[in-house]
Amino acid sequence: MTKISFYTLGCRLNQSETASIRHAFKENGYQVVDFNEPCDIVVINTCTVTGASDANCRYLVRRINRLNPQARIALIGCQAQLQESQLAKLPGVSWVIGNARKMDLVSVLNENPCPKNPQVITPVIKRGPFSLIKRGLSPKRGLSPFDDKHTRANIKVQDGCDFFCSFCEVPYARGRARSRVFEDILDDAKSLLASGHQELVLTGINVGTYAYEGKTFIDIIKALDELDGLKRLRISSIEPTTISKELFSFMKNGHKLCRYLHVPLQSGCDEILLKMKRRYSVAEFKNFVHEAISQVPEIVIGTDVMTGFPGETDEHFNQTLHLLNDLPIRYFHVFSYSPRHRARSRLLKPLDSKVVSKRSQILRDLSNQKRRVFHESLIGGIYEVLFEASDKVGWQEGLTDHYVRVRVKTKHDLYNQMARVRLKSVDGLMVLGEQLGGYS
Ligand code: SF4
Repeated sequence: MTKISFYTLGCRLNQSETASIRHAFKENGYQVVDFNEPCDIVVINTCTVTGASDANCRYLVRRINRLNPQARIALIGCQAQLQESQLAKLPGVSWVIGNARKMDLVSVLNENPCPKNPQVITPVIKRGPFSLIKRGLSPKRGLSPFDDKHTRANIKVQDGCDFFCSFCEVPYARGRARSRVFEDILDDAKSLLASGHQELVLTGINVGTYAYEGKTFIDIIKALDELDGLKRLRISSIEPTTISKELFSFMKNGHKLCRYLHVPLQSGCDEILLKMKRRYSVAEFKNFVHEAISQVPEIVIGTDVMTGFPGETDEHFNQTLHLLNDLPIRYFHVFSYSPRHRARSRLLKPLDSKVVSKRSQILRDLSNQKRRVFHESLIGGIYEVLFEASDKVGWQEGLTDHYVRVRVKTKHDLYNQMARVRLKSVDGLMVLGEQLGGYS
């Protein structure tokens, strides 16, 4: 039996797609092993959102080649789509398969299991006549988004993006926005719930732009909310201009939708937002955050921020710093700008990398400090936690609905259980608590 392992770089959508591909290989007689185990084929689902993501892939390929020189390597996904010739030259690489064909990886590998030279398949991704992702990911083909873990599963609702922010090459790597057939999403959700998952995370590149035969993103949320067995529904990340007011009223009215939103800001300076071709001003972003909190007081909002966009002065950076300090945003992911080959901003002069890393560190420190203050404010409260992992010495770990990572020490096996926990102290980026009473 051919042994195969998988590694995912990048976003939640990539994780969801790797889970589907892994499932397809199992269904087709391959033995899926852990990434660090010796095997015949290693698949890396790549990311190209920053220069660091590109470097991670190259590092992994060299490491695999050193530790397991017999393994044939398949590079799939965004970096494969855009940098095929560079990747095909890396040692041990047998396949470079872009986004248009990666979901067919089983057939590609079965047809050509030992290519003499790297096989490269990276056709341009077209929007297609219906702007839809049709039943191409159906469970019958073994490609529905099954996750091996049985707590939280990602469910893909759309792919691609039409926004073309000036720093981003995702629209080239993943193509223009396409939405999945509404009924397919519901079918996948039912399969995932039947196999024991309790939380579903709606993923995509720009989920708020979902559109299928008059149905929008909120219609997916409403339909999933009615499914038996679903305890929680979460949105992975959503562009601020695509959030409808209805979402807040749905969130506050005690439905299954988690009180949590990850909404990318990127910069707190209007001049930079304009150069980035983002679709909102600082004032609009502020209004959005205040509206969200007035509608759903317990909501947790996190964000992405980018430092060192070309032309970002100390003054521009300080505007971002002050905005993030002042707004009730609980944490942020910080990205250092790096020019992307197809993005329009590549024509602009980059900043000194030392300045960029210093700014990134300042924002990371602020994020950690804000997260800690937020976690401290929760101490003494009682929250429902969905447990998803444990270690050998009895600590068990899970998430609240507003995405706080909680650990408890208990003799009960809480895996995939929802339990009430009193939060007691902060430990780094987690909160420690004690389990109260029963669980379900
Ligand atoms: S919204 Fe902007 S940053 Fe996000 S994927 Fe689309 S182009 Fe890229």
